[in-house]
Amino acid sequence: MLTIVMYHYVRPLAGSRYPRLKALELAAFRAQLDHLERHYRPVTMEQVIAAWRGQQTLPEQAVLLSFDDGYRDHLEHVLPELERRGLQGSFFPCTGTLRDGLILDVNKIQFVLASVASTAELLPALARALDKRRERHGLGTYEDIHRRVYHRLSRQGRFDDPDTLFFKRLLQRELPFEVRHDVIDELFARFVSTDQRAFAEMLYLSDAEVRQLHEAGMHIGCHGDQHFWFDSLTPEQQGRDLEVSLAHLRNLGVLGDDWVMCYPYGGVDEALLGLLRQLGCAAGLTVASRQADPARDDPLLLPRLDTNDLPSQAAACPGDPATVQV
Ligand SMILES: [Zn+2]
Repeated sequence: MLTIVMYHYVRPLAGSRYPRLKALELAAFRAQLDHLERHYRPVTMEQVIAAWRGQQTLPEQAVLLSFDDGYRDHLEHVLPELERRGLQGSFFPCTGTLRDGLILDVNKIQFVLASVASTAELLPALARALDKRRERHGLGTYEDIHRRVYHRLSRQGRFDDPDTLFFKRLLQRELPFEVRHDVIDELFARFVSTDQRAFAEMLYLSDAEVRQLHEAGMHIGCHGDQHFWFDSLTPEQQGRDLEVSLAHLRNLGVLGDDWVMCYPYGGVDEALLGLLRQLGCAAGLTVASRQADPARDDPLLLPRLDTNDLPSQAAACPGDPATVQV
């Protein structure tokens, strides 16, 4: 069995400007690597691909480390730790953030949430922003929207309180794209920064930095261009986003022949799987939370555990409850 661990932000959080960001504290990352090195056998992406082709067997308790979204955290904090230990990580930057100096809506939402002590503080500003756009987009009043969808959107989150789930899901998917995109922009300018370009440079890797990771022996794979939920796109839209992203990574010289897809939000459907097979994709990473089995799992649908599902104390044993507080 293979354990694939999924990481996003990894940084020294305490004392930082956004201590409430849903990030893994750097010290906890180090302790988790200690734990993984003690109880697991770290493997490379190339070994995983070969194992799924039946060309080699993975060691017992194999573990693969994956890092999504192309944050500068990965160069500043993750790479030095991996290099010191001789480990390979697999990194999945969104090419839209490499090219445009744009900030993904999903990241804007995270930083808006991290800028206040409690999500309840954001709801009046959300209500005003929605009411302002009510007529143009034929929306109900904020009270209507709240009454209609709060219960549904605020259920069953693994790591968030109900207000935060409502806020995130309303702005990530529920509202029509133009409305939510606009509202997120307004809230980001008000609560986080009016200089998006500077913020993007601080937040994301650049082309040169992605090359640096690759030159250090890290695996670089595809996470799409605009971080879409691929299962909500038409096959034509899926093809376009993939094509742009793959071309960018190939131009950088960081994409191998055996390339790997990491689905944003785990969003994947049959049309995308067909397209990926045509394009020669070697493996795909989802967010289904369990270990992967070479004998059973489709290589394009490999499950991953979140870092928060594993202990972050060096002395912990496999199967101990996760100790990261989120
Ligand atoms: Zn992502």
